[in-house]
Amino acid sequence: MTPYDPQNVFARILRGEIPCEKVFENTFALGFHDIGKRAPVHILLIPKGPYTCATDFYQNAPPELIVGFSRAIAEVTSHLGVLEKGARFIVNQGLHGGQEVPHFHLHILGGKNLGPMIMGDQ
Ligand code: AMP
Repeated sequence: MTPYDPQNVFARILRGEIPCEKVFENTFALGFHDIGKRAPVHILLIPKGPYTCATDFYQNAPPELIVGFSRAIAEVTSHLGVLEKGARFIVNQGLHGGQEVPHFHLHILGGKNLGPMIMGDQ
C-alpha cells in the first residue's frame, strides 16, 4: 500500500493550513462541504488520522476511532435534513475506484433523487 502522504489536501485541512466549509467536528472526525459538489447536499467526512483509504482505515485504525467515525456518519447525516428522503454514502478507493485524495473519506450525498447507483457498462 502507498504510504500516507502528509501533504495531501485533507491532511492540510485537518492541520488548519487550508480552509474548509466545516459542518461537523469532534474528536474523531471532520465534516465539510465538497468544493465540487455533485448534489444539493455533498459533504465529505474524514477521520482524524493518517489513513490513505478505506481498507487502510478499517485494518489499521484503533477501534475507538472506527466507532467514533461511524457514529459521526450517523450524527452528520441526521443534521443534514436528508434522512427522510434518503442519502447516498460513497467511498472511492484507488485508481479504479476514482479516488483523488489519498486520505480516507466518505462522501455523503443527498437533497435530490440520486438516480442509479453507477453509470456505464458492467
Ligand atoms: P475522491 O474522488 O473520492 O477522492 O473525492 C475527492 C473529493 O474531494 C472531490 O469530490 C473533490 O471535489 C473534493 N475536494 C478536493 N479538494 C477539496 C477541498 N480543498 N475542499 C473540499 N473538497 C475538496
